[in-house]
Amino acid sequence: MNTKLLINGKFVAGRGSKEDVLDPATGKVITTVAEASDEQVAAAVEAASKAFANWSATVPKDRAALLLKVADHIESEGEEYARLESMNCGKPYAAVLGDEIPAIADVFRFFAGAARAQHGAVAGEYLPGFTSMIRRDPVGVVASIAPWNYPLMMAAWKLSPALAAGNTVVIKPSEQTPLTALKLATKLAELFPPGVVNVIFGRGSSVGASLISQPGVAMISLTGDVGTGEKVLQAASKSIKRTHLELGGKAPVIVFDDADLESVVGGVRTFGFYNAGQDCTAACRIYAGPKIYDRLVADLTSAAASIKVGKQKDDGVEMGPLISARQRTRVAGFVERAADRKHIEITTGGKVRSGGGFFYEPTVVAGARQSDEIVQREVFGPVVSVTRFKDADQAIEWANDSDYGLASSVWTNDVAKAMRVASRLQYGCTWINTHFMLVSEMPHGGMKRSGYGKDLSAYALEDYSVVRHVMVKL
Ligand code: NAD
Repeated sequence: MNTKLLINGKFVAGRGSKEDVLDPATGKVITTVAEASDEQVAAAVEAASKAFANWSATVPKDRAALLLKVADHIESEGEEYARLESMNCGKPYAAVLGDEIPAIADVFRFFAGAARAQHGAVAGEYLPGFTSMIRRDPVGVVASIAPWNYPLMMAAWKLSPALAAGNTVVIKPSEQTPLTALKLATKLAELFPPGVVNVIFGRGSSVGASLISQPGVAMISLTGDVGTGEKVLQAASKSIKRTHLELGGKAPVIVFDDADLESVVGGVRTFGFYNAGQDCTAACRIYAGPKIYDRLVADLTSAAASIKVGKQKDDGVEMGPLISARQRTRVAGFVERAADRKHIEITTGGKVRSGGGFFYEPTVVAGARQSDEIVQREVFGPVVSVTRFKDADQAIEWANDSDYGLASSVWTNDVAKAMRVASRLQYGCTWINTHFMLVSEMPHGGMKRSGYGKDLSAYALEDYSVVRHVMVKL
């Protein structure tokens, strides 16, 4: 297991404080990793700055060839990546291997192709005697900061468009979940010239804060909490760095009376509780029509209660623990405060599971009202609220009445109604009769406090490059 940092093509032990990395299913220490010191953070940025001139001059075909090799490597070592990821996050091993690893390899493959197939404005004469053309060039050194919920996937979302566009990168995985990024570093060091990718480790308050304030960083890409996004913007404002922010979410799920109840319940059972609900797109805020509400609450309650919670490799396990004791306390706090309200009923779950690890039961909170904290705030745990609406206008108004704007879904058998509602939702993505489905070709990103960066798709390549005008006097 690699616990060293990759700086300028070399593996070095961190010289900062030592942090325990835990298995959330047992609470036990897997290993200890030393943080980068301030000097090491600066050295990583300097290495990336030095590597930029040559790397940015490579042609897309050559960058694509390396990204394809990363994809092949992730697939060929998929079982080891899945083992490390599931151990470090507590996720079911089979889900990481079956769902995440293929999607991660696909992201590298997509950007390998996309780098070679970019389109742009037409070059021509817009003043007589002058020819103008548009170039799309890399930004420079990108500081990438990732969260703990999908560590390797978030590394892939950040590294592949940045490198495909010709940038150099210093990436910092979450201090809680560094193991797969540190393993990936061993392959990146073999494939890429020194300094093109640097992988450092440490807490946000120390290493993250130091990284985003480095003068050599041209762009900061963060996936994380809204509060962390604010700190990134403050740091970026001092030296006018570009920012790419993917922040939290609180996805509304609008269920009309004519929706197929079985699909809705199956969908929310999967998409509300996947990854123990620690997902910025989780189907967690249900608005149900007046006629379907009672049946939906009853069926969803049984469905959520049937989710098999357990350790990574338990037979048939569907949901693991939360990432940390702190996160579980936070989730439990939301549910306790909700349960104190007279109009709310916790129809299943609402309890910490005894024994080791940071387990919390799949929970359904029925009778929630629009102004309730459980409807307004991101819980980031296995907790789904259900609220009854009276008509489409009210459902849309409540869905949009949120600080967040990342993902949403509409469930109905009436296509015209679905399209009308989708057009009025203020969310980066709206799914119809499904939820949570991501593909490399389509953008993922938010509005409002969910941020504004686009991950995946050709739009991410745009985010990680700059438009430049070159004019020639003829
Ligand atoms: P977090 O903001 O606490 O941490 C994210 C990363 O930022 C970590 O690497 C952390 O070390 C770093 N960080 C923290 N403080 C920092 C600082 N002052 N300066 C620089 N870096 C700092 O978030 P988290 O708890 O790891 O992840 C959960 C959050 O991420 C949730 O809010 C979730 O919705 C969000 N998220 C969003 C998306 C999306 O695509 N929009 C995807 C996954 C997670």
